[in-house]
Amino acid sequence: MRFDIVTLFPALFDGYLSQGLLSKALKNELVEIHRHDLRDHAPETTHRPVDDKPFGGGPGMLIQVEPTVNCVEAVEAAVPEKARRVLLTPQGKRFDQRMAEDFANDPRLILLCGRYEGFDQRVIDIWEPEEISVGDFVLNGGEVAAMVIIDAVVRLIPGVLGDQQSNIDDSFSRGNRLLEFPQYTRPREFRGHTVPDVLTGGDHGAIAKWRAEQSRLRTQQRRSDLLPESDNQNP
Ligand code: SAM
Repeated sequence: MRFDIVTLFPALFDGYLSQGLLSKALKNELVEIHRHDLRDHAPETTHRPVDDKPFGGGPGMLIQVEPTVNCVEAVEAAVPEKARRVLLTPQGKRFDQRMAEDFANDPRLILLCGRYEGFDQRVIDIWEPEEISVGDFVLNGGEVAAMVIIDAVVRLIPGVLGDQQSNIDDSFSRGNRLLEFPQYTRPREFRGHTVPDVLTGGDHGAIAKWRAEQSRLRTQQRRSDLLPESDNQNP
């Protein structure tokens, strides 16, 4: 899968791309990530401005339509692979696990990151991206939001995780769409806190049953909105 990130701060991704699962996925050619500097499409003056004051007044600056549309169109045309277009904005549809699973089926994603007060509305009207938010709060820029999306999508690509079962068992994932059950590792006892007997007894049927019950209970306690309507009424 190929990601194209359009940003005013390409270097922000340096550390992120060089560590952990992502760097391994890049090395193993399971994903390609390309960064594009929006400023490369700005007028060729000393400061290469891409922003200007909003018409009608108000605080802050807006990213201008011309360099942005020129940039995303050039990025899109650089390879024949058809791309899904995503613009990061707090005003967008809320990103979740189902959306991550949907994105993971696409061969290519373009992620357009905003800064300042965001983009001139005509970027959206002309380019017609999907507007996506990572939550009901305001970040300084779309780069962290793009990392959130890449992180959630990349782990769904076959071969990226050591064990694909994680993508079924993980919270919100397609196993049951609930929160994951509690997990333990060695030692069996620490400061009087012990591992539940069922997990060390070797009865795989009993372990599966316990985990399913715990997953439902934890979801009921913390996120009852995730339970099917009928479960919600009869905990
Ligand atoms: N004035 C904008 C508004 O109220 O909708 C917020 C602009 S924000 C300071 C700058 C950029 O950060 C946005 O253009 C967007 O790309 C990114 N951003 C901020 N919060 C975000 C969120 N919750 N999800 C996705 N992107 C976000």
